[in-house]
Amino acid sequence: MLYLIPTPIGNLEDITLRALRILKEVGLILAEDTRTSKKLLAHYEIDTPLRSYHAHNEHAVTASLASQMEAGATIALISDAGTPGISDPGFLLARECVRRGIRVECLPGPTAFVPALAASGLPCDKFHFEGFLPHKKGRATRIEYLAALPYTFVLYESPHRLLKCLNQLAEACGPERQACVARELTKIHEELRTDTLEALITYYSDPARVKGEIVVVVEGKK
Ligand code: SAM
Repeated sequence: MLYLIPTPIGNLEDITLRALRILKEVGLILAEDTRTSKKLLAHYEIDTPLRSYHAHNEHAVTASLASQMEAGATIALISDAGTPGISDPGFLLARECVRRGIRVECLPGPTAFVPALAASGLPCDKFHFEGFLPHKKGRATRIEYLAALPYTFVLYESPHRLLKCLNQLAEACGPERQACVARELTKIHEELRTDTLEALITYYSDPARVKGEIVVVVEGKK
């Protein structure tokens, strides 16, 4: 079978007891970046064999991994941080296993958008998860689509594009729309700031304030 195992998004304590046990018990761990995952596994004294599985080889190796599982292997997939498949490799392997009738289990655990959404103070009863916007082609169209949604939406954004993103959102949604920038979640310098898009643009115009990993949560259209 295939286990999808969420791993910490910053704080090493954010891994479940079951995740640690399964990572010890499986025959093989597939990791997005084996160097990153080696640090996590060494911290928890897990010496299960590790192989890389990432955006550049997933198309080539998915079928043979599924065949290994059909033949009886139990494999765990982890990404660099958070839940595999959420803006990370995982979908292709899960789909192939489901197609072949191989059992897939995803453990509950860390993912960046849930704490950002829940702590933003913006409505979280209904929401849209967008993940990363396209960098160039199709970006403006996508933002127009998001701006019209009647419920909260969530984006992943890199620090060097945050200001551009906030400006584009303000243009499409209006400067008074509420949003939250959640930075460095679970880490020492965690910061969540909920305000109008206009106020967030002013605050994050200082490049010294834009560091680390970022989730942007935006209120839906009223
Ligand atoms: N699989 C991950 C998950 O479940 O959230 C997402 C991986 S995606 C490649 C990385 C992006 O997630 C970052 O660019 C950032 O937008 C967001 N992210 C990851 N860790 C974060 C953190 N500690 N604080 C804020 N955002 C984070």
